[in-house]
Amino acid sequence: MEHRFSNGRLLRLVQGDITRLAADAIANAANAALAGGGGVDGAIHRAGGPAIMSELDEIRARIGRCPAGGAVATTAGRLPARFVFHAVGPVYRDGRHGEPEALASCYRTCLDLAEERKLGSLSFPAISTGVYGYPLNEAAEIAVGAVAGYLAREAVTVHEAVFVLFLEEAYEAFAAALCRWAGEQVE
Ligand code: ADP
Repeated sequence: MEHRFSNGRLLRLVQGDITRLAADAIANAANAALAGGGGVDGAIHRAGGPAIMSELDEIRARIGRCPAGGAVATTAGRLPARFVFHAVGPVYRDGRHGEPEALASCYRTCLDLAEERKLGSLSFPAISTGVYGYPLNEAAEIAVGAVAGYLAREAVTVHEAVFVLFLEEAYEAFAAALCRWAGEQVE
């Protein structure tokens, strides 16, 4: 599924493994310690190789932890990308402890990092919807709203953003959220 904005930018949804899809930058769902983990983070480090963790070691030595809502950039090792943006999603509690804002901020920070580097394409996993427990439909609404809102602006260098959803239920949730978002724009 895809949505083309009036400024020509494209938002796509695909089901699959984010490490297999080429993009200028791949966003990762990292943890605040930038220390590596399971899920999509494990897949990215396995596929990209040890260069990514060496760079994160240096970043960690410099800045310590990365707060929820933030992201740091490394190169992408063997991945079919130039950069990985390690975004730290919020751990879901009840949705009333700043989780929506932090989740939206993850996506926007990655898009800012892409803009700073004048990149054309960026792929995202469904941040926080695995171990961090964010309810899928709420996370999809926030993710689609943040990325679509960003791409709809003028003069962004990112011409294509892709949500790569590992599980079918995640794909369905994001597809429904994108349909709703697009419908609201027409009214
Ligand atoms: P978090 O800690 O932010 O919840 P997880 O890695 O546990 O991060 O899960 C985030 C999402 O990434 C989940 O929806 C999970 O199904 C998905 N995921 C896991 N492996 C991959 C992969 N290889 N490519 C894309 N998404 C993946």
